Amino acid sequence: MANQKGEVNEKMEAIISLCKRRGFIYQGSEIYGGFPGTYDYGPYGVELANNIKAAWWRAMVQMEENIVGLDSAIFTHPKVWEASGHVSGFSDPLVECKACHTRSRADHLLEAVGAFADEKMSVEEINKIFDTHRKDITCPKCGKKDFTEVRTFNLLVQSNLGNFSGDWTKEPTYLRGETCQGIYLNFKNVLDTTRVKVPFGIAQIGKAFRNEIAPRQFIFRLRELTQMEMQMFVTPEDEMRFYEIWRAKRWQYYLDLGFKEENLKWHQHENLVFYAKAAWDIEYNYPFGFKEMEGVHARGDYDLTQHSKYSGVELSYLDPQSNEKYIPHIVETSVGLDRTFLAVMTEFYAEDDLGGEKRIVMKFPTKLAPIKVAVFPLLKNKPELVAKAREVYGMLKKEMRVEFDDNGNIGKRYRRQDEIGTPFCVTIDFDTLGEEKPELKDTVTLRNRDTGAQERIAISELVKRMASHN
Ligand code: ATP
Repeated sequence: MANQKGEVNEKMEAIISLCKRRGFIYQGSEIYGGFPGTYDYGPYGVELANNIKAAWWRAMVQMEENIVGLDSAIFTHPKVWEASGHVSGFSDPLVECKACHTRSRADHLLEAVGAFADEKMSVEEINKIFDTHRKDITCPKCGKKDFTEVRTFNLLVQSNLGNFSGDWTKEPTYLRGETCQGIYLNFKNVLDTTRVKVPFGIAQIGKAFRNEIAPRQFIFRLRELTQMEMQMFVTPEDEMRFYEIWRAKRWQYYLDLGFKEENLKWHQHENLVFYAKAAWDIEYNYPFGFKEMEGVHARGDYDLTQHSKYSGVELSYLDPQSNEKYIPHIVETSVGLDRTFLAVMTEFYAEDDLGGEKRIVMKFPTKLAPIKVAVFPLLKNKPELVAKAREVYGMLKKEMRVEFDDNGNIGKRYRRQDEIGTPFCVTIDFDTLGEEKPELKDTVTLRNRDTGAQERIAISELVKRMASHN
């Protein structure tokens, strides 16, 4: 994969290749030649993605007394997207190469030549900036320098859901462009039906859809993506205090996930939308450079005010102590599951030398690893070893995600588990049966992924031993 300067990025290539080879991620609709902006998570990918979601949910809901969860519908009343401003303003600046007709985001082309524009500027402003740099900007596909004018392109994905008139494009329904709108819609429901009081938060994980002009960089920029968002409802006076609390918590979350601090960076938005008080992104050091992984925003009372106005339903809060009524302000944390996944793959990808052999190893923390332990009978053709290995597998699978593998020699099986990041391998051999050395009966070899070290351990100790690792 080429970065913005057109250099081939070896690490990115290696990660993409591993994802395909080992069943983490497949191109969407691959047998039909692919479908841009979509990817499918394979057997190990879905395990890793579920573990990332679980880590987020644990940090944001389980560990937070004042935050509750939600799973709102992907489709909403179409007015939701008018109220939110997406119908009129959720757009990116688009230019087309006149030679090869490749469409690109004007702000990304400008960034590549050191100039700045963003979606909050008017199209006239962006055109002016683009014109000043036109002579330097090259098409990422064909390398020519011949572009159309910049125009804005709305990112909302339209549908005909529930619309049976011949021309549904006149009154489209939308697939949600972000998950947080479902949270605003349920602010009153949650308030009326649970015991929450301001300050409180609602968290949600779910799919979102964006008609991205140029989906690229693997799963970094998708048209169908998953977001993990939390909206905290606070008093107007408390907004910036909570904003700082959440900035600190979200930074710490990545450190707790095992990321090196040097791979994280804060980026402050240069241009704020009129209602926002503050907007910072946490950027991750992807193989193609530092890019946004998460946004932390202080959104004022814009969201609830807009939905009050468009729905006609009052979305205010009556403080039970002071009897004061007000529209809560919102502090938002918003991160893409897919961008976290790519960051996790980048962070824990390693190539090393083990016992004189080169290997690729995914050094996932145990809590993220798709498979926690693999169980091998030393030999496939010895029924007594296979039966004992099956027994151990049967015991462990009740506690964690385990894989049974009797295919190929042990070294090959280790390599495969290293590449999918399995922290432990357990081998059942003749000593486990205790035939020659009765003192070793019901012990197994436990092999550590990172060091390759092997130790003898009693089967009855295995679960405790795995649980102590994270
Ligand atoms: P960008 O500037 O990269 O287009 P954004 O500022 O539009 O992103 P937000 O609207 O703040 O992104 O969305 C919150 C989070 O959702 C982002 O930080 C990112 O992790 C994720 N996200 C947004 N768009 C995409 C996408 N097209 N593909 C994958 N993840 C995305």
